[in-house]
Amino acid sequence: MQSAQKLKVLFITSEIYPLCKTGGLGDVSASLPVALQNLQTDIKILLPGYPSVMQGVKYKRKISEFKELQHFPPTTLLAGKLALSKTESLSVLVIDCPGLYAREGGPYLDAGGYDWPDNALRFGLLSKIGAILSSDASPLKWQPDIAHCNDWQSGLTPAYLHFHSGAKAPTVITIHNLAFQGNFAPGTVIQLGLPASSFNVHGVEYYGNLSFLKAGIYYADHITTVSSNYAKEIQKEPLGFGMQGLLTTRSKQLTGIINGIDIEKWNPETDPHLAKNYSSKKLSNKSFNKAVLQQRMGLDVDDAIPLFGVISRLTYQKGTDLLIQIIPDFVKLPAQLVILGSTHVELEAQLMSLAKEYPQSIAVKIGFDEALSHLIEAGSDCFLMPSRFEPCGLNQMYSQRYGTPPIVHATGGLVDTVVNLTPDTLANGTASGFSFSPITTGNLFSTIQLVVETYRNTKTWQKLQKNAMAKDFSWQASAAAYQEIYRSLIA
Ligand code: ADP
Repeated sequence: MQSAQKLKVLFITSEIYPLCKTGGLGDVSASLPVALQNLQTDIKILLPGYPSVMQGVKYKRKISEFKELQHFPPTTLLAGKLALSKTESLSVLVIDCPGLYAREGGPYLDAGGYDWPDNALRFGLLSKIGAILSSDASPLKWQPDIAHCNDWQSGLTPAYLHFHSGAKAPTVITIHNLAFQGNFAPGTVIQLGLPASSFNVHGVEYYGNLSFLKAGIYYADHITTVSSNYAKEIQKEPLGFGMQGLLTTRSKQLTGIINGIDIEKWNPETDPHLAKNYSSKKLSNKSFNKAVLQQRMGLDVDDAIPLFGVISRLTYQKGTDLLIQIIPDFVKLPAQLVILGSTHVELEAQLMSLAKEYPQSIAVKIGFDEALSHLIEAGSDCFLMPSRFEPCGLNQMYSQRYGTPPIVHATGGLVDTVVNLTPDTLANGTASGFSFSPITTGNLFSTIQLVVETYRNTKTWQKLQKNAMAKDFSWQASAAAYQEIYRSLIA
């Protein structure tokens, strides 16, 4: 296809792996654009210039300046490349605004774990530049056919575009997690240069505040979310988080598209973070990773004890509190648990004290550690994901690819990606993990007991591992589904 005919997409995001990642959005913002590129899409990523982005984006050159952008500090737009592998790179547009982004800490929180007090301005600017570049006010020659926003941080782009009277690109907003809404005091509307009239139930207002996400859902031409099941769940209580009415009104423009994963990066046959690579044909090498993981985490090195893994934000959403409650019974099974995560300080402290109490069985690493997360996927026998809700979830897909059947609560994307072990699913070759519902400590624990029992039956366990490893979690079909939506909007 000639490059002139390629669909041009501006992908607006607040995270991208490997420069800045706090969760699934970071992974998706790298892997979906690569998949779209492979489908002949001309895609550029628009990102805030955090220090890690300024450092990691190569061949940067200034392409425009916004010296007198009303309501925002002076800003420079840089263009550069983000190399993802030897063969893959992405074109990136970086918003260089040192007053808002040149600071140590996370993208949303300061080092003490508190929201940056100027988050409305930080992500208002991301949304605003996204809107300018997607309209005839853009200083660039490259004009997108579609503006693709992600989560609340770019939720105001469709609102700014709505109030722009000139030519503009249609917009898509993807909800990666409806629980994060970007809600700010009403005065923010004027501070960010939105018309006062937009502060309305038919506009950006949400229960008396300005909501970035509500604005995106209200004004975008199309809404997607990251699994079909979650698309249904958010149109009802309780997972609609107050937006179920609006989402139901817009249900004809709401599509659930399951996330894919980067199958190159998450490949047990080539993963450089593993102690030994393996495939479904050579599963014996997987247990070498288990021994290395047990040793590294200070657990008893014993292949006979089932080892469970958790890699997660440690939060109420992820069910960390439920896990904590069952640990005294869990260690008696016997079973071992490795947990990698951070976020909620109190949950972190409770886990650390349990690790102290049961040092041979429970190991906890607080923090973000990409390399260890790969070893946990490979070295664990079973992955635990008792999320109260989960829009899509990535780890259950990584774990299936690594022959580590997951236990999941049957919610959101976990329903769409994990097939529960039953006599039928075992017989027809689809069983790939364990799911339970409703979410109670009793159900979680009895499913763990079932796993321990099944693990002892080597034949069934290996069948489950092989089924899981054979599943296709690539972006192929999902990227094509996004492209279909883009095309329908510009038709
Ligand atoms: P969410 O986006 O809700 O946090 P997802 O399952 O969609 O959950 O994605 C989480 C991503 O972040 C996965 O790639 C997971 O491996 C990674 N991750 C989460 N916590 C950590 C951690 N402490 N160290 C390394 N990777 C982590």
